[in-house]
Amino acid sequence: MTIVTKVDQAGSSGGTEQELTDGFHLVIDALKLNGINTIYGVPGIPITDLGRLAQAQGMRVISFRHEQHAGYAAGIAGYLTKTPGICLTVSAPGFLNGLTALANATTNCFPMILVSGSSEREVVDLQQGDYEEMDQLAIAKPLCKAAFRVLHAEDIGIGVARAIRAAVSGRPGGVYLDLPAKLFPQTMEAEAGRKSLVQVIDPAPAQIPAPSAVDRALDVLKSAKRPLIIFGKGAAYAQADEAIRDFVEKSGIPFLQMSMAKGLLPDVHPQSAGAARSTVLKESDVVMLVGARLNWLLSHGKGKSWGENPKKFIQVDIEPKEMDSNVEIAAPVVGDIGSCISALLDGLGDNWPTPPAEWTDAINAKKEQNIGKMALRLKKNSIPMDFHGALGALRTVIKERPDAILVNEGANTLDLARGVIDMYQPRKRLDVGTWGVMGVGMGSAIAAAVETGKPVLAVEGDSAFGFCGMEVETICRYDLPVCVVIFNNNGIYRGTDQDPTGRDPGTTVFVKDSRYDKMMEAFGGVGVNATTPDELYRAVSEAMDSGKPTLVNAVIDPTAGTESGRIGNLNPQSVVGKKK
Ligand code: ADP
Ligand code: MG
Repeated sequence: MTIVTKVDQAGSSGGTEQELTDGFHLVIDALKLNGINTIYGVPGIPITDLGRLAQAQGMRVISFRHEQHAGYAAGIAGYLTKTPGICLTVSAPGFLNGLTALANATTNCFPMILVSGSSEREVVDLQQGDYEEMDQLAIAKPLCKAAFRVLHAEDIGIGVARAIRAAVSGRPGGVYLDLPAKLFPQTMEAEAGRKSLVQVIDPAPAQIPAPSAVDRALDVLKSAKRPLIIFGKGAAYAQADEAIRDFVEKSGIPFLQMSMAKGLLPDVHPQSAGAARSTVLKESDVVMLVGARLNWLLSHGKGKSWGENPKKFIQVDIEPKEMDSNVEIAAPVVGDIGSCISALLDGLGDNWPTPPAEWTDAINAKKEQNIGKMALRLKKNSIPMDFHGALGALRTVIKERPDAILVNEGANTLDLARGVIDMYQPRKRLDVGTWGVMGVGMGSAIAAAVETGKPVLAVEGDSAFGFCGMEVETICRYDLPVCVVIFNNNGIYRGTDQDPTGRDPGTTVFVKDSRYDKMMEAFGGVGVNATTPDELYRAVSEAMDSGKPTLVNAVIDPTAGTESGRIGNLNPQSVVGKKK
């Protein structure tokens, strides 16, 4: 613990020297005591000195250009480490900028804590017009799991402890911690300060599933003729990688991995049904969900993509309220995934019947067919590049570096990359998550580099990158091993829209033939303009090996994309009065 020393008032006449600490130091000490050693944020009133002192105390403090990206970084740090990521912001506007990321973390079940300075309570509550006045606690509440405010230095320890426990226990999520400006300079006796800190013991306690729930699930699974397991990012988050692999291999059941769960088991695993996704969704009769919600990303468990076959669902999740959220769950297994999968694995015993060959053969045939079709597309060497040509090059880069982290956002750039780029290791794919939010790329890439030290490849649509592009300065400033590839097709979805009146650019297009690579050069990084898959492959491989901040402008055919990528069905279109 760090201490500010002050001579006691009585000291001038030979009194004792008293050790004091203050709010700044107590916040830092409370975080460090709980193993939190990194802060993502943007400095300013009233938390500038908190950042400075944290850095002086050996914490890693990563200062961003905009709070939203610091917040996205904190969320991803939480996802990767199971320890809440910290985002530190100033009051009102900075707080609001961080709030998008806090809500995103809560939606995605990422543990993070948004710590914001705030202005004087007394003035805020009487609405007398303080500097950056805002009742931040009230505003944050509906967007996070829990929200706390600390008014007294002696409560900092307990406040930080509550925030940590709320973020990581049960279903993880975002927590807001409000620290008014007046708190920071408050002093207290150092020894009392030390004693006021709380080390959170067992912050995310194991939640053991009921044996009867495990038996029920195994009974349903055993009755299946066409079983399927779907892993979501909750399963990746749980870090129960070995038990999950054992369960899959011992049961012999085919599996799908949701976007961020890709690589939990290698996408090239013989039981992976990824390349036969639509077939297995339609044809399966028992589906076991592990850390995956039946939300829009799985068509709510019903409708066309699930086919005519009646299904029984088994769901493994830590959140009891998740069960029956969209369809009936025949066998709910509530608990943490590590404990649940271990119990299910034990229950498989030694004589678990392998799934009928008719089912696995049908899947394998479909996979072969689809993989063959894709291989042809990936080989295309057209100039300008189409999405598949460019992605074929990046697929090889990741295959050659399976421990690198892939960040991915955009519309077509996201949807096609998800299918094309195989992942080989858990928690290596970071993307737009449950909301499909654009602009997470640079924050995720920075957190991935900081938390893991591994090379990061961020594959970005030109539009998605626009939401967070200024953070390339942050990447250069901290000299992070991040290679950003912009799929530049001159616009959103495609670069060919026109204003029917001829007055302005079309609403979805950007400046034609922009050179995003020059942005990186402006900050001392490496910029490359790539027009062929070969050039792209060489530039990205070099960047990944050197670890130098790099931005590759990949020139993509502006006619290549489709409206809204793969989710055009969610985009209502006007049929009235449109010129053909
Ligand atoms: P995806 O989008 O990849 O399908 P979701 O975010 O929809 O994944 O689902 C993740 C689910 O995982 C959530 O329902 C969440 O409650 C659950 N979850 C997160 N962490 C754990 C854990 N450690 N144990 C059990 N369930 C978890
Ligand atoms: Mg585009």
